[in-house]
Amino acid sequence: MCLYNFEIIPQETPNVIRNCGKCKRNTEFYCSEKFRVNSNQKLVDVWVIYNCTHCEGTWNFPILSRVHVNNINSDLYHKFISNDKETIWRYAFQSKLLRKQCHEVNTNIRYELREEKIDLKSNNLTIRFYCKYELDLRIDKVLSEILGISRSNLKKLELDEMIILNPKINIKKKITHNLQITVVGKGQKIKL
Ligand SMILES: [Zn+2]
Repeated sequence: MCLYNFEIIPQETPNVIRNCGKCKRNTEFYCSEKFRVNSNQKLVDVWVIYNCTHCEGTWNFPILSRVHVNNINSDLYHKFISNDKETIWRYAFQSKLLRKQCHEVNTNIRYELREEKIDLKSNNLTIRFYCKYELDLRIDKVLSEILGISRSNLKKLELDEMIILNPKINIKKKITHNLQITVVGKGQKIKL
């Protein structure tokens, strides 16, 4: 009957697990929400600073390495030196890159769902996702939360071809921006 827009608003950035030189073992590091910018004869290095949750020891996540200042967009450079939160978060959600540098990335973050309902003349229920960052959240996890049904019931709906994903991706994959999910006929079990 309706179209629902769901914006997924992360409440935190993923922690990473890596070796801490001070603790001398793998520990969890959190994003400090600060950049470190070094420039040496117009060559710029940029990192995002992470801190160990046990000893506050530092790990620097490399973003730019020896890039000539003229090759960096001036707006972006300003965001680096002013610790622009949105820019830092965009890097902090680059799980693929972080995984290359760390032992593990804990993408199981807290998030809020902001819901907007639009009435349409349709027998189906459609959900559209908005995400500002590259979240590493499984579609079936968030969808079962929104629909208020178990993952096994969700699986049943999927097998009965009652759930249509656009683009056509597996329901176990990650949520992407603008992903649209239609539940055909809006099953009775669904609370929305
Ligand atoms: Zn430590």
